Formats: sequence, structure tokens, C-alpha cells
Amino acid sequence: MATVEVDQDLCVGDQICASMEPEIFEMRDDGLAYVVDGMGELEDEAMIEAAKEAADACPVDAITVSE
Ligand code: SF4
Repeated sequence: MATVEVDQDLCVGDQICASMEPEIFEMRDDGLAYVVDGMGELEDEAMIEAAKEAADACPVDAITVSE
């Protein structure tokens, strides 16, 4: 199991995570990325890897994936 979080204080709203993994990340009205409701705790290995790839792609390290 992994916990996924986005730090909105760091996010610059470039939409990379949401375009890479729209099942996990979404842009909201404030222009920042958030974890989709219900996706904050991932069990599926493929989804965990997808979240990690998005975290690696985030230019400001706003995404944390903790196992
Ligand atoms: S990739 Fe990072 S900076 Fe870009 S929208 Fe996602 S959390 Fe924000």
C-alpha cells in the first residue's frame, strides 16, 4: 500500500501529473493539482508505479508517494 499526496504549496499547476495519470491526479478550480478522491491510498502495484512516475516527472517535487 502507498499513500499519495500533493503539496499545493509547491505545485505550480503545469498539469504534468494530471495529464500523465488522470486516474490519480486532477487539476481543480484553483489551478493546482490534487489527488483524486479515493486515490490517496493505492494498493495496486501498477497504480503505485504510475504515481511514482508522475512524482518523478513533477518539476517541483510536489508529489509524495510513501510506502
Ligand atoms: S506535476 Fe507537480 S507542479 Fe505539475 S501540476 Fe502536478 S503536482 Fe503540480
